Amino acid sequence: MIKVSAMTKVYEMGAAEVRALDGVDLVIEEHEFVSITGASGSGKSTLMHLLGCLDRPTSGGYEFDGDAVHQFSDRQLARIRNQSIGFVFQTFNLINRTSAIDNVAVPLIYGRRGSAKANAMEALERVGLADRAKHTPSELSGGERQRVAIARAIVNHPRLILADEPTGNLDTRTGNQILEIFHSLHADGATIVLVTHEMHVALQGERLIKMVDGKIVDDVSVTNELRKQFVQSGTQHFGRSERVLTEAGE
Ligand code: ADP
Ligand code: MG
Repeated sequence: MIKVSAMTKVYEMGAAEVRALDGVDLVIEEHEFVSITGASGSGKSTLMHLLGCLDRPTSGGYEFDGDAVHQFSDRQLARIRNQSIGFVFQTFNLINRTSAIDNVAVPLIYGRRGSAKANAMEALERVGLADRAKHTPSELSGGERQRVAIARAIVNHPRLILADEPTGNLDTRTGNQILEIFHSLHADGATIVLVTHEMHVALQGERLIKMVDGKIVDDVSVTNELRKQFVQSGTQHFGRSERVLTEAGE
């Protein structure tokens, strides 16, 4: 589904250059559940933006379903985003003073389908929020807002769901409810790419990628053995889990 080759992204900051992505090669098959982890500033969000066709690489290639999307026009990129990709952000990015159902219906304005309300309602039902359809974001809890954001992301039935720190602003219990939704979308056939700096969240995926300074430095399958090692290490500290990861990779 995804084939990234030698991808770089360089931001010009006045005289200075920030090399946010520094030669990333990555293949993701349809129906995988991939977690991406790494310290702040390691390029996770930049990679997600590029995978989500929200931006173009400085150099390198990105094939989505065999199409060279790095050569696509803005219009073509918008079309892929709308038809095939759902994006979930840490800060929900909902429109204030607009009801849950109207937030969810936003992508349908550009879509092909007839009954926006019915489709938006169906997506809200999918995340268990049908009874909050008329509430505005300020009338919802953090977990509920994120569920609305997920409903918006899935309203066009995308095959790829990209989630950038989706549980970062939520307590553990609420975060786990959100993760359950991703598991259920995965079970229904979606491909999931989830960015998180929390190991217990990352280990919910079936493949774990680690980034350092714009590069992928680790890419391993998540086994139950690895999950057990992490639980037994009794810490969520990144340095510890890093060692677990290295051992598991050998
Ligand atoms: P992460 O999500 O892992 O924290 P980011 O992808 O957001 O990392 O950022 C990677 C690097 O690129 C950082 O050094 C960040 O400051 C820089 N960066 C990200 N976005 C921009 C931007 N729009 N303009 C300039 N620099 C940016
Ligand atoms: Mg980020």
